[in-house]
Amino acid sequence: MPEALIIGAGIVGLSVALALQRDGHRVTVLDPAGPAGGASFGNAGWLSGASVVPSAYPGMLKSVPGWLLDPLGPLSLRWRYLPKAAPWLWRFLRAGTTPQIRAQARALRELLAPSVAAHRALAEAVGATHLMHRHGALWVYRTETAFRADAAGAALRRANGIEVDDLDADALRQLEPSLSRDIRFARFISENGHCADPGELCRLGAETLVRDGGQVLRERAVAIEQRDGRVVAVRTDQANHALDWLVLAAGAWSAPLAAQLGDRVPLESERGYHLEITASEAMPRLPIMSGEGKFAVTPMAGRLRLAGTVEFAGLDAPPDWRRADLLLRQARALFPALPETMPEARLSRWLGHRPSTPDSLPVIGRSRAAANAIHAFGHGHVGLAGGPFTGTLVADLIAGRTPPIDLAPFSPGRF
Ligand SMILES: Cc1cc2nc3c(=O)[nH]c(=O)nc-3n(C[C@H](O)[C@H](O)[C@H](O)COP(=O)(O)OP(=O)(O)OC[C@H]3O[C@@H](n4cnc5c(N)ncnc54)[C@H](O)[C@@H]3O)c2cc1C
Repeated sequence: MPEALIIGAGIVGLSVALALQRDGHRVTVLDPAGPAGGASFGNAGWLSGASVVPSAYPGMLKSVPGWLLDPLGPLSLRWRYLPKAAPWLWRFLRAGTTPQIRAQARALRELLAPSVAAHRALAEAVGATHLMHRHGALWVYRTETAFRADAAGAALRRANGIEVDDLDADALRQLEPSLSRDIRFARFISENGHCADPGELCRLGAETLVRDGGQVLRERAVAIEQRDGRVVAVRTDQANHALDWLVLAAGAWSAPLAAQLGDRVPLESERGYHLEITASEAMPRLPIMSGEGKFAVTPMAGRLRLAGTVEFAGLDAPPDWRRADLLLRQARALFPALPETMPEARLSRWLGHRPSTPDSLPVIGRSRAAANAIHAFGHGHVGLAGGPFTGTLVADLIAGRTPPIDLAPFSPGRF
């Protein structure tokens, strides 16, 4: 039985692990934090085949200077971190030309269109169907100016075959009565789904993997040993693991390990926060994106999760919890039922690291240095949605099957 070692037990690593186990591999997953110890725990839960608008699209770039001047705006940069982030930010700005945006959107659509179906298959395999919902998603706006400002994004979605319905205030009210009457403009995308507990989904995935003979070890990969163009073993902080196949799925922490495999990938943490309210007074039926605040509101199992914002400060800087609290303040403007004050015991806050590339596309493909090492990281804002399908793509590469989509846009060598 071939031995497959996967670095990282987030949604991507676990999806790869389960797909390889189905293909007859003996699978070991390494993660010092255990299942969903990274971004896969606290994200907004969106399974959005419609998330094809790259971060660097021109409409967004115009807003950046204003956002940066506001320390609690949807995008922030800790100025001390600027020298470190500058090369990535420079590439990010250059990735925002119209032809590139169109190509990135096409590639994202190929990767994400199967996300609801791939999640359903994963959920069936790991006993998580109760967490999967398909009610569509809403993008909502207080002002017509903000609604119009997002028209280019909606046009890009439509150009990629996504049905986007513009709603008037009455139609919006009927679809989601919990929203404030001040919210008068919206777009609805019916194909989207959501997962009501991404951390629990990963936990069930790991449990299934172990039940069927795999292992999840709380170890940190430190060095990748190679001989004659192949990886032979991974050294961790505790042991040495021999292997036949290696998959690197360490999310925002992947770049130094990818460099050991000959691939210099510009990868940055786009830090994001969530604030959760247990027994929330407002509980929308479907996920909602605030067009003005650029954050998501998702009905989770027993909680309301507010998640979003982007902060550039690296992997190690302490959290700035004001950014999580800001989400609550903004959510009150969306949902009048949310009270002005709430006991602290009902709130929980979380910081996570989106593994982001400058062109908003993940890195999926064989490493430059070793024929038996595959990269599967860099999914940025869409890794929950894209994780399970990425798992099957990696399994296809390892089995020598032709993947159902063109993987050239995701090539590790593109930088
Ligand atoms: C606020 C926020 C909201 C989001 N909302 C959504 C959403 O609604 N929909 C969506 O699709 N995506 C969303 N995302 C993005 C999504 O969460 C990520 O793209 C996805 O979780 C990445 O999964 P991953 O498995 O690649 O990485 P992670 O989940 O971060 O997992 C990587 C793992 O690697 C481990 N690791 C690191 N170094 C090592 C090492 N040396 N050895 C072993 N293991 C190691 C880490 O401990 C970690 O557990 C959101 C992200 C944030 C922050």
